[in-house]
Amino acid sequence: MARVYYDKDADLTLLEGKKVAILGYGSQGHAHALNLKESGVNVCVGLRDGSSSAAKASQAGLEVLSIADATKQSDIIMILLPDTEQAKVYKESIEPNLQPGNSIAFAHGFNILYEQIKPSADIDVWMIAPKGPGHLVRRTYEAGQAVPALVAVHQDATGNAHDIAMAYAKGIGSTRAGVLETTFKEETETDLFGEQAVLCGGVEELIKAGFETLVAAGYQPESAYFETLHEVKLIVDLIYEGGIEAMNYSVSTTAEYGGYTRGPRVITDATKAEMGKILGEIQSGEFAREWIEENNSGLENYKKLQKQTNDHQVEKVGKVLRDLMPFIGQGSKKVQDVSGG
Ligand code: NAD
Ligand code: MG
Repeated sequence: MARVYYDKDADLTLLEGKKVAILGYGSQGHAHALNLKESGVNVCVGLRDGSSSAAKASQAGLEVLSIADATKQSDIIMILLPDTEQAKVYKESIEPNLQPGNSIAFAHGFNILYEQIKPSADIDVWMIAPKGPGHLVRRTYEAGQAVPALVAVHQDATGNAHDIAMAYAKGIGSTRAGVLETTFKEETETDLFGEQAVLCGGVEELIKAGFETLVAAGYQPESAYFETLHEVKLIVDLIYEGGIEAMNYSVSTTAEYGGYTRGPRVITDATKAEMGKILGEIQSGEFAREWIEENNSGLENYKKLQKQTNDHQVEKVGKVLRDLMPFIGQGSKKVQDVSGG
């Protein structure tokens, strides 16, 4: 059984006399900054010049500085910028302002694992990665609850990196829910695999293939939308709450039997073999190289694929149908990372 830490395993007083810089004020950034502040931690927010978030952060009572000044003034620097921007900002504004014994912290391991950021040996490097979107990290904290998180230490220069990381986790509330010990390698590789094979890539293609099959057979696109996209949430909610057995208990025995006998014909040994290849590309660094190269060369292929997906018929039909169900829109705030990494 993996190690999991709770409130009693973390000492918030380790952050007394220290200052924490939260770089970025997006999904994760606003939640970390506000939760830490309300936990009594001395926190500032580092933003680029002209950032539209500066006003929001100051209005929330937070000290707002440039990324360079926030780094200079702080002992712990949590980097909550988009993963694709971190290496450049690190080189230009963070690295030159670090002191020996400082902590560089992350909420996802990509840039460390794939060596886009290489902190010098006198810096602590650790991760506290909440397993949920930022708005939930904030909302649950306010309600006295929390989103669970992962903790990992990549580099322990001071000998205190793990304890400092756990104090930070307590500050954002995560030790209320549980903080699971992992490594940068495990967090990054499982996170990428989950989003590629199952959550984003897998689910999206399953929906489109089911929709296309029904429409090609002459059924109304609206009926196809409800059966292959809309109801995915209802089924996933049941699985989330009670596992696969609870889902099967709630659906009809016809649905249950049909699933047992037909599901394995959709997801076959060939699918599983391909999942293995996808995992291999993550482990070898091939996916990371491809994605970094795509970013460096102007995201042409990414934009083409995005347009293709957005132009799909299931999207056009969905827009019309969702407008007729206004209650659905309320939960549809953009969530950048469903799996929370
Ligand atoms: P985000 O896109 O919501 O916010 C990023 C912030 O950085 C914004 O304030 C943006 O204005 C700012 N920014 C963008 N480019 C910049 C630049 N070049 N220089 C300076 N500032 C810049 O990002 P996020 O989703 O909060 O992700 C932050 C980190 O948290 C990532 O490492 C991500 O993998 C990780 N993470 C995200 C989630 C999630 O659900 N969103 C969950 C767990 C971990
Ligand atoms: Mg994730």
